[in-house]
Amino acid sequence: MTSSEDEKAPPGLTSDDIPPDLWQACPECNQLIYAPDLEADLWVCVKCGHHFRLTVWQRLQVTTDPGSFEEWDHDLPLHDPLEFPEYPDKTQAAREKTGMTEAVLTGEATLDGISLAIGLMDLSFIGGSMGWTVGERLTRLMERAVHQRLPVTLFCASGGARMQESLIALMQMAKTSAAVGRLAEAGLAYISVLTHPTYGGVMASFASLGDIIIAEAGAAMGFAGPRVVELTGLKIPPEVQTAEFQYQHGMIDMLLPRKDIRPALHNILRWCTV
Ligand SMILES: [Zn+2]
Repeated sequence: MTSSEDEKAPPGLTSDDIPPDLWQACPECNQLIYAPDLEADLWVCVKCGHHFRLTVWQRLQVTTDPGSFEEWDHDLPLHDPLEFPEYPDKTQAAREKTGMTEAVLTGEATLDGISLAIGLMDLSFIGGSMGWTVGERLTRLMERAVHQRLPVTLFCASGGARMQESLIALMQMAKTSAAVGRLAEAGLAYISVLTHPTYGGVMASFASLGDIIIAEAGAAMGFAGPRVVELTGLKIPPEVQTAEFQYQHGMIDMLLPRKDIRPALHNILRWCTV
């Protein structure tokens, strides 16, 4: 700690007394933001509009009615068909870091009093990748939604299929897509919300199959992510894999800043559940 840092602290306090997470720097414009202000602004920088990545718990907080979430299928076991080196350890570390048991959280909640089945993915859990447990949770979510006659909303964020489960992970693409088909047969709405970033086998399956596809402003999306594209030696313009480009070219129905997503969901769910 330098004397100049002490000069910035309020009288009687040193910078050591201030919790380190009380201020956050915007990665886009470097503005320092007071954490409670950032939360009040739904974790969007008021200066430049940068959307901070949300945990599933923060996403529930900004999307659903307080205390209304009830988790489903919490206890599905980890699938490790290849006995992939260090996979159980990596999963355990992800659990401790995120407070989730897998890369997707599923359950039932209400939004302005309207009941819905909801799934939320977190990139912090092994890249938000889809293995057996993620595919199974999503499939069970949709099947239970059919049984309970609930609309489904999924907040997608993923690097794609989980390499540690190889073909078993790729099979989840077909399984979840078939589950979306059963929702359609039952006449139930499925709203997919693409958040930053959504790539790979998730984008190529349930994420792009919504009756209505919403993208959060600033989200990156596509099939092969930038690192994979780079490995192929091919060059694609970077703007192609943005929500803005995809919206302009008809791949997305609505492109919304975070503050407008909940009101949009409210409207859509109200129309779909009368
Ligand atoms: Zn900013």
